Amino acid sequence: MNTKKQAEQILRDGHVKPTSIRLEVLSYLLGTDQHPCVDQIYLDLKERIPTLSKASIYNSLHLLVEEHIIQKITIEDEKTRYDADHSTHSHFFCKGCGQVMDIEGLDPNDFKSPLLKEFEVDQIQIYYAGYCPACKVQKEDKTDE
Ligand SMILES: [Zn+2]
Ligand SMILES: [Zn+2]
Repeated sequence: MNTKKQAEQILRDGHVKPTSIRLEVLSYLLGTDQHPCVDQIYLDLKERIPTLSKASIYNSLHLLVEEHIIQKITIEDEKTRYDADHSTHSHFFCKGCGQVMDIEGLDPNDFKSPLLKEFEVDQIQIYYAGYCPACKVQKEDKTDE
């Protein structure tokens, strides 16, 4: 299934009207693992759809987050990123190249802590920060000199 078809299915399942802009935004997110911010989405989509405004992308993103179709990742203060994978999963933020990547296999689903017993948790955001493998090698090379 291509990302456009997939996006349409997800919107219909979520009872969200599949307008062309929502389809564009969601299928873009489904096709990337880069956790892009609104500026990046705008730049990439604008190449193909010159009439697109940043405000309309932002509105679509906002709605998709509200409808729990995508998730917002706020690691850097000044930059909100978006992820088409709405499941609870861990992210790694590299201070070297600035990438946000998914960390597979770590279980961030600790809903059972006694500290949370009076609360209802419906979202957890966990991220790790440091240096990705490529940046770590570069950094070590520099210290060796
Ligand atoms: Zn890196
Ligand atoms: Zn992710």
